[in-house]
Amino acid sequence: MEIKQVLQANNFRFNKKFGQNFISDTNLLNAIVSDAQICKDDVVIEIGPGAGSLTYAIAQQAKKVVAFEIDTNLKDVLKTTLLGVSNVEVIFKDVMDVDMAEIEKIAGGPYKVVANLPYYITTPILMRFLEESTNMTSMSIMIQKEVADRLTAKAGTKDYGRVTVAVDYFGNAKLARNVSRQMFYPQPNVDSAVVRIDRDKKYTCSDEKLLRQVVKSAFAMRRKVFSTCLASGLGISKDKAVEYITSLGKQATIRGETLTTQEFVDLVEIIKKDR
Ligand code: SAM
Repeated sequence: MEIKQVLQANNFRFNKKFGQNFISDTNLLNAIVSDAQICKDDVVIEIGPGAGSLTYAIAQQAKKVVAFEIDTNLKDVLKTTLLGVSNVEVIFKDVMDVDMAEIEKIAGGPYKVVANLPYYITTPILMRFLEESTNMTSMSIMIQKEVADRLTAKAGTKDYGRVTVAVDYFGNAKLARNVSRQMFYPQPNVDSAVVRIDRDKKYTCSDEKLLRQVVKSAFAMRRKVFSTCLASGLGISKDKAVEYITSLGKQATIRGETLTTQEFVDLVEIIKKDR
């Protein structure tokens, strides 16, 4: 049965607040699974299975799929679309309310994330998995085109931000494909893209918690100079912040968004030595 028919047969009402834009095109669904490079040994965590069309396509290639869905109104729909599919477990919970330790325990080892992400919560989900996961090896996500551009932005550009640094620190991001808004039901106002981010340890930082704090402070107040942001973010004096930034070989007046990931890491090591 077509996804639209399943939704209608179950009297499903779309809930705008959950970013519900579903895909039903089989070629596109299979292409996303292929972009994610899923193979028979893979455990996949899916965020937001919706009507289960992508879940079904992933399950055909993976060992196991664990999907987190916030909307309990999709229970009957998912029962229909995933009928007879034995390697899928759907957990009806807000993925943001589930501890990362719990997610990793459920996955039981290395896992890949594949998701057509809900628009309203894309960045928090991305940040959470990139920063907190220890066993995620890749993340293949359908996101708004403009967010995709942010993931691979260069330092100093308007698209460069906290999420860019988180992606770069985690590994390498690659645009896998652009997807027209016409491929979704209901149709959103924006086009999308599939991006795959592969884990690749390019940087070594002795205090990742402090790194997150420093990067967060750098982008918290874009109009202010970095020394002001850093002082406020770390609760230190402005003079101390200037001292750290100049030790990095930078002018005291630089803005946070001009620093590369490596420079943020170097800055953290300078601060650590002083503590
Ligand atoms: N995967 C489906 C597809 O590709 O057709 C649906 C994708 S739709 C863009 C996003 C889905 O995420 C919706 O089913 C929505 O209910 C669900 N969702 C939204 N917020 C969520 C959250 N915080 N935790 C888990 N699922 C969520």
